[in-house]
Amino acid sequence: MARKYLIETFGCQMNVHDSERMAGLLEQAGYEATADAADADVVVINTCSVRERAEEKLYTRLGELRQLGIEQGHDPIVAVAGCVAQQEGDAIARRSDGVADVIVGTQAIRHLPVLVDGAVQGRERGRRRAAVIDLGACDDVSWPLGITRRSDPVKAYVTIIEGCNEFCSFCVVPYTRGHERMRPKADIVAEVREAAASGRREVQLLGQIVNHYEAPDDPGCDFTGLLEAVHDVDGIERIRFASPHPRHVDARFIEAMVQLPKICRHLHLPVQSGSTRVLTAMRRRYTRDSYLTLVDQIRRALPGVALSTDMIVGFPGETDADFDDTLSLTAAVGFHSMFSFKYSERPNTLAEKRLPDDVPDEEKTRRIVALQRLQREIQSGLNERLLGQEVTVLVDAASRRRGTELSGRTSSNVVVNVPGPAEWIGRMISVRVERAGPHSIWGRVV
Ligand code: SF4
Repeated sequence: MARKYLIETFGCQMNVHDSERMAGLLEQAGYEATADAADADVVVINTCSVRERAEEKLYTRLGELRQLGIEQGHDPIVAVAGCVAQQEGDAIARRSDGVADVIVGTQAIRHLPVLVDGAVQGRERGRRRAAVIDLGACDDVSWPLGITRRSDPVKAYVTIIEGCNEFCSFCVVPYTRGHERMRPKADIVAEVREAAASGRREVQLLGQIVNHYEAPDDPGCDFTGLLEAVHDVDGIERIRFASPHPRHVDARFIEAMVQLPKICRHLHLPVQSGSTRVLTAMRRRYTRDSYLTLVDQIRRALPGVALSTDMIVGFPGETDADFDDTLSLTAAVGFHSMFSFKYSERPNTLAEKRLPDDVPDEEKTRRIVALQRLQREIQSGLNERLLGQEVTVLVDAASRRRGTELSGRTSSNVVVNVPGPAEWIGRMISVRVERAGPHSIWGRVV
């Protein structure tokens, strides 16, 4: 009987895609997927450390797996991957009371099957719970075709850049994912072709700063050049990417968004704060005014484009006036969606070393509640404007809530729920909007 694996994923799209890669590697090694830890021979926990309490989540889960062993006598190999693995290293082996068999860093996931094998052999020799660790840095960002086990039947994630060199003062990514490494354009385009050939209709290009891309194998080809190459791939109907950095958006890129119809009318443009003083302390290298000017430039070129963003409240030194700037920028831009967070210190970052976390937690909570209330009102208003209109939707899944309902997205990334049969998944349909909420809309096929 085939051995089974389960991968549990926390965090961003990068982590989701790393899990798809690890799933493919384990399947190549003869494992089959299972959804139940009690049935798995290998459990991989792919961790995220961008927000606080990620470590605690990990240790809680490791405790549950230990309990599984005690109560049911089931004792799978446990591998910890992702940013917490990279950051904590062998501290995980010590703190987990020996539950983790394998600790694999973000740049070493290609070694996962070998590491798991080492743990299996260790156990066979009676060497219980001696963690096999690989946190090695790796400049090789190539990835063979045909291995990734894509979890979505409609959309394909394709990595274009690994790591980041920006060192924003709050962010742990440069420490956990390493310095910026560009993937060859030829590899990226080949993977997009492969995704199209396997029926995927949407591609999402991933990187910490996608618009910093420069092709190592095609001098002069930047992110815009890469978009043009991906746009030429037959079968791909929609192109998304996450995330561009505001300071690297240029006129050529905006013009490409205007000219290339497969590029979705949605731009995730992380701003992080509405206060220039806070942005400077964050080392974002743009100002409130330059961000608003950029938004204006984008909107003039692309009327109706949906903008979304990331926002942090309670950054060290953030005053009431700074936070008011965040509220006023939010209202001025009218973001279609926002990921907002209370600031928390992340290990090794410049902010952790140099800036005291001096905004009390109750104040951070007050600010995030106010920001989310405002954002909810904005989203409701934007979605209500769609009532009665006909929108084009790429159906990507059965709705999680209701059995007969499907869900998909418009080009501008609005989630649309519509009744229909599962055969429609993967199809582009026209929907008349009948109801709107802050997070999604509902309608019927025209
Ligand atoms: S650009 Fe800044 S926030 Fe984004 S990954 Fe790099 S360091 Fe982190």
